[in-house]
Amino acid sequence: MNEDCYRFETKLLHNKHKTDPVTGAVSVPIHHASTFHQKDLESFGKYDYSRSLNPTREALEEVIAGLEGGTRGFAFSSGMAAISTCFLLLSQGDHVVISEDVYGGTYRMVTEVLSRYGIDYTFADMTNLEEVKEAALPHTKLFYVETPSNPLLKVADIKSIAEIAREKDAYTFVDNTFMTPQLQKPLDLGADIVLHSATKFISGHSDVVAGLCAVKDPVLAEKVAFLQNSFGAVLGVQDCWLVLRGLKTLHVRLQQSMITAEKIALFLENHPLVKKVHYPGLESHPQFKLQREQAAGPGAVLSFELEDEDALRKFSDALEIPVFAVSLGAVESILSWPARMSHASMPAPERSRRGISDSLLRLSAGLENPDDLIHDFSRALSAAERTCHTARVKL
Ligand SMILES: *Cc1c(COP(=O)(O)O)cnc(C)c1O
Repeated sequence: MNEDCYRFETKLLHNKHKTDPVTGAVSVPIHHASTFHQKDLESFGKYDYSRSLNPTREALEEVIAGLEGGTRGFAFSSGMAAISTCFLLLSQGDHVVISEDVYGGTYRMVTEVLSRYGIDYTFADMTNLEEVKEAALPHTKLFYVETPSNPLLKVADIKSIAEIAREKDAYTFVDNTFMTPQLQKPLDLGADIVLHSATKFISGHSDVVAGLCAVKDPVLAEKVAFLQNSFGAVLGVQDCWLVLRGLKTLHVRLQQSMITAEKIALFLENHPLVKKVHYPGLESHPQFKLQREQAAGPGAVLSFELEDEDALRKFSDALEIPVFAVSLGAVESILSWPARMSHASMPAPERSRRGISDSLLRLSAGLENPDDLIHDFSRALSAAERTCHTARVKL
């Protein structure tokens, strides 16, 4: 079977792991074994110990490698485990240029953990290539890109940044959590490693915490394999299976959620109580064109700013449908408050310097009927508006 010629949604189902070669099972078997019997002293088999390699994890790793256009994939116990393990490619004295509105956990890891090991960093607005170049130092070994970024959905030019990195003999890593390989293929754009919190769209059901990465260059892949085995933050087999199952419906889920996100973004953009909407699918988005060029869609996450924190509280109190939670990329719509949730580990002055205000909310569109969601949002905004007016009258 030549899966290379299939389109994305077909590949999700018809790949090397469509059926189990031993039994014909139409679901990847879960191999709980931690260790594997070796036939004799001279010839050890492919599998020896499950931290190093396990058939269930291997299936997931091969599937993600295939979808991202890599030669090898790796599954980790969380998105942060995948990210942290790949950062271990760096050594003492190295320097990183990193997206300034990066995921809060990555921010914490770089500023509070890596810094203790003599790895230095500079945050840059990655939408500005001049700033990216200026941030680079002679010992820069990595450009770490998150695009669209979290929570402001800024779009960085992966191809150009990878070129800047290549000139400096540095790596480019891209956190592709918001896009998934369905919408964006960083390895094809020149990135060395593509990373995922598979907790989000890839598994999609708010029922598993997992991380993935994929690599094109076999030499680099060997280094990541060595680190995965050395550090040991591998994904358990039950969770590998859950991610494999979630992946099968990625295309329909993301496609539908994206339609809903676009509708909600337009609705919010035209609502007088909403100060600003950040969504790369809106023509008003500063990198609307770039997003169109490097990705197959704007994704299903958007963020928006209300008048102030008081309006935010009234609004979220009145809202009925979305789950109010950390996380994104699930079947149910998820509303989160970056300043107090995903970005709480970033000091307040840093947040405000990056434009992450206290009245910013992030929405990950789920699979509810879009009109039900818009109705809910409309009602909750009216509730917030009423209280705003009452407050002004009282003053
Ligand atoms: C959630 C998330 C992570 C971290 O992943 P975990 O699975 O929670 O460890 C990293 N990057 C982005 C963009 C995320 O949304």
